[in-house]
Amino acid sequence: MSIVTYIGMGSNLGDSKDILIEAVKKLQNLGIVRVSKLYQSPPMGPQDQPNYFNAVAELITDLEPLALLDQLQRFENESGRVRLRRWGERTLDLDLLLYGQKKIQNERLTVPHVGIIERDFVVIPLLDLNPTIQIDGQTLQDLDLIQHSTLTELADESWINH
Ligand code: ATP
Ligand code: MG
Ligand code: MG
Repeated sequence: MSIVTYIGMGSNLGDSKDILIEAVKKLQNLGIVRVSKLYQSPPMGPQDQPNYFNAVAELITDLEPLALLDQLQRFENESGRVRLRRWGERTLDLDLLLYGQKKIQNERLTVPHVGIIERDFVVIPLLDLNPTIQIDGQTLQDLDLIQHSTLTELADESWINH
């Protein structure tokens, strides 16, 4: 059965925009994809690393959650991701933000993804895709962090075509 999922995408090493475009092309092999605008954001965690390119993809897919996570991690690895330090620089991060309305808690997967509603680089692109989206009864549109956004908009939704 097809489920509406949201994937948070980030990159701050290498040719980040091209890496994200490549990731979207790979997601298109897993189902039907729509993308948010493209943003730049200051790093979370260690501050001595480059700014991030961020976006969110909506993916309508038949994959089960862990099978989807396997694919996301494969795409991260294919981008040359190396784990250096927590919240450190990376070529590609693909986080499963939401999987329909499902709550998942196991050793590999927590869904909704931890920290969604504290991260403007996730909330704002999610709202591009779905302005009325709610998580645990919280309407994202009403969150204070939207008023204090640290994001810079780099491109509209057509960024994947360039
Ligand atoms: P954060 O998860 O806080 O954004 P991160 O993305 O840098 O940090 P990673 O190194 O990409 O963290 O992932 C660490 C582990 O998180 C992975 O091995 C994965 O099993 C686990 N994980 C748990 N829930 C999720 C999720 N919803 N999406 C992706 N990975 C998840
Ligand atoms: Mg992450
Ligand atoms: Mg991750």
